[in-house]
Amino acid sequence: MTSGLSDIVTDERTGLIGERAFLAKVNGIVSESPSGQWCLIAIDLDHFRLFNDWYGREEGDFLLAEIGARLVEEEALTGGLAGYRGQDDFCLLAPFDKARIDALFDDISAFVAKRGTAGGFMPVFGIGLVDGPSTSMDLLDRALVAARNAKGDFRKRICVFRQPMIDQIEREYRLLSDFLHGLENGEIIFYLQPQCRMSTGKIIGVEALARWRRADGTMVPPDEFVPVLEKHGFITNLDCFIWEDVCAHLQAWTSLGHAAIPVSVNVSQVDFFLVDIPDHFQQLVEKYGLDPSLLKIEITESAYMESMAIVNDAASRLRKLGFLVFMDDFGSGYSSLNMLRDIELDAIKLDAQFLRMGSDGGHKGIHILESVINMAKSLNLPIICEGVETEEQVRFLKGQGCRYVQGYRFYRPMPADEFERIIDDGALLDMRGLVVKANEQIRTRELLDENVYSDSMLNNILGPVAMYSWRGGDIDIVRFNEQFYELIDSPAFHDLRRGIQRLMPRDERPKLFHLLSQAEDNELNGSAGMLRFLRYGGAVRRYFFRFYYLGKRDGGRLFYGSVRDVTELTALQAQMKLISRFSSDSMVFVRKLGSGIVYTVVAHGLERAMGLSVEEFQNELASGAFINRIVEDDVRAMLSDQDVFSVKEMLARFRIRTDSGELFDLSVKSDAVDDEATDVVAILVFRAH
Ligand code: C2E
Ligand code: CA
Ligand code: CA
Repeated sequence: MTSGLSDIVTDERTGLIGERAFLAKVNGIVSESPSGQWCLIAIDLDHFRLFNDWYGREEGDFLLAEIGARLVEEEALTGGLAGYRGQDDFCLLAPFDKARIDALFDDISAFVAKRGTAGGFMPVFGIGLVDGPSTSMDLLDRALVAARNAKGDFRKRICVFRQPMIDQIEREYRLLSDFLHGLENGEIIFYLQPQCRMSTGKIIGVEALARWRRADGTMVPPDEFVPVLEKHGFITNLDCFIWEDVCAHLQAWTSLGHAAIPVSVNVSQVDFFLVDIPDHFQQLVEKYGLDPSLLKIEITESAYMESMAIVNDAASRLRKLGFLVFMDDFGSGYSSLNMLRDIELDAIKLDAQFLRMGSDGGHKGIHILESVINMAKSLNLPIICEGVETEEQVRFLKGQGCRYVQGYRFYRPMPADEFERIIDDGALLDMRGLVVKANEQIRTRELLDENVYSDSMLNNILGPVAMYSWRGGDIDIVRFNEQFYELIDSPAFHDLRRGIQRLMPRDERPKLFHLLSQAEDNELNGSAGMLRFLRYGGAVRRYFFRFYYLGKRDGGRLFYGSVRDVTELTALQAQMKLISRFSSDSMVFVRKLGSGIVYTVVAHGLERAMGLSVEEFQNELASGAFINRIVEDDVRAMLSDQDVFSVKEMLARFRIRTDSGELFDLSVKSDAVDDEATDVVAILVFRAH
């Protein structure tokens, strides 16, 4: 292999040779030396990109040059060899001498430390030892595996490669290989777990759960192989097999005269990238002559959220073809009411892990469960509670209005033939199935009942919000709601509230000031943008902010802002979806100016949908004309009509008529803002359903 010019010429910044030249020379040195004399050290800086963000590129380049010079010195002293692998990655062939290596580590740490906040930017050394005949590639591989082991652990920054580190990788490969053989040899089967109507305990459906019955008879649970299959991309082999086997069983049941019970199958996020899911299922039901409504496709919430565009598109096509789509493990991920509104789906599966949290004494789990159930209800979605084990849990869930259940309390997963004996007994079956999209409209009066619409749910509509004050060069957090506090999730929150710009990478700070200035210049629409903040421990998180200007106070300026953590939603489409979701409400500030009330619309989803201009909408609110749009029956149903748009905290749902006679189903939430610092007395959120 010819080495490129860039490998021979030394790197300008570091004064070191490139990786390829380094590896070639190392081969020459170690082939003539005994085991244990040399070792290869992979040197890497934690969060180097962050270092560049924080101190600037130039300073980053200085640091690299300093390290390069120190390694050249080491080279000369020991007869070893140093190389530069690009970015913040260095390599060094050196004698395996602990004291020397420690000294080198300390020197490099000192280069970082003299620039200030060293903690998060500490170097990491991974060491591969020359041990028997080894090539330079082997050595580098070992060094890198060791470095990966050292990363993320502040106490163990120097790590020597040991065999168990790759044993884990080998174990996974062995499992994959065994699994693929097992799949060929008929060792993969599925168990069936019935889903029941809570009130009667009768079976309305069943879920197929993969099992691996090894040749020696041991049964491997999916938790031991599904994650490994997903990690390496082989989950689709399992899933396609299970889906087809399920269809074959469904065909057999109907031809034998059994009742046709709808079956849930699991679809992994990976599958969406490897198979055209709707197309695949369409072919299966054609092949086996099945009604598509017999298949319920379970997709986890995280798959929806992480691959929003592709999953939602597939779900939409599946439903058009007549399949049912369920969201699995709801409540474990990121979805909020905002995001759920127009996701394609027929029912939600809720894991009762939240209930188990509750029984430990804490009530947090119960609260999460309540608000999640309320969220599903307001979307008219049936809920299946999973993992229900006790009668007490059944009672609680019934009280919450949950109708369907899957759990050990009713049936455990069982082999297919056992299930077939059960469905032979028609008395245990409930052929009405899930009442999908049942008429579960919530009435206005119920909406005003706090048992139906919990506080957590209201917070879900608003999301994390806070009020900021800008004085001189500092941005302080003046007020914030519970969700905001949870989002920040720092034990030091109350110290961090002052001068929050300090929590941002240096070059990002002007962006915050720019966004606030923009909001001030544009009182009507405010401003919006992505900002990066540094979290405790050095991680960078990305937040999507929306700011509105509220007015002057004590020589400072006040702003109101909503925020979402969008770090995890890396897919651009997911972000776009999230951002557009932000503007689907109308948000109105109610301000008291002198003796009058002024309405300022700050988000424009609703009136745009109604065909009103911002001015028209504001005027109608101010004159009371908007109340006249409410459908008469709904006005009567409301407890108090004169307070609807006043400053009280309330939530109401009713229909309104547009100028063209179209009806809108609407909810309005009012939050009193009890703060003397601003003339805003309430915030109204209008939402069309
Ligand atoms: P899942 O889809 O959420 O399935 C429900 C899991 O909860 C099953 O575990 C079931 O046995 C268990 N479960 C049901 N009732 C109770 C209960 O009352 N208490 C408790 N503690 N657990 C209960 P299982 O069968 O071990 O499957 C675990 C996970 O493996 C599944 O979670 C699913 O994510 C995955 N999985 C199973 N089969 C397949 C498959 O064919 N394809 C894919 N992609 N994943 C699968
Ligand atoms: Ca499932
Ligand atoms: Ca589940």
